[in-house]
Amino acid sequence: MSDCIFCKIADGEIPATVVFEDDELLAFEDVNPRAPVHVLIIPKEHLSTMNDPGPEHETLLGRMMLLASRIAKERGVSEGGYRVLVNCNADGGQEVFHLHMHVIGGRRLGPMA
Ligand code: AMP
Repeated sequence: MSDCIFCKIADGEIPATVVFEDDELLAFEDVNPRAPVHVLIIPKEHLSTMNDPGPEHETLLGRMMLLASRIAKERGVSEGGYRVLVNCNADGGQEVFHLHMHVIGGRRLGPMA
């Protein structure tokens, strides 16, 4: 999608600190980290929100979750604990309308708001 910032990152038009990439997924450091570990995982395919995936995306979503687990282990936060979340639309606090999963850890995060 031409005006989507995360599509531009996936296309290499906007720089990001990439921590994982394959043909379907990209993971990169959040530009405004809320914790010592804050990585975003996106599908390269443009899906705007968590409302958009269909049955054909089942494997893709599973791969995103597995990648979150892998990144947490690589960053050394898997045993201490971390949070994986997806914000959806206005009430969910979504700011960038390209589906993304946050992997946040490295400090005591406390209860969900
Ligand atoms: P959300 O509220 O779930 O839509 O979160 C969007 C996230 O994207 C925020 O944590 C932002 O800090 C992050 N973000 C926005 N622009 C960039 C960028 N160019 N590179 C990396 N992270 C970004």
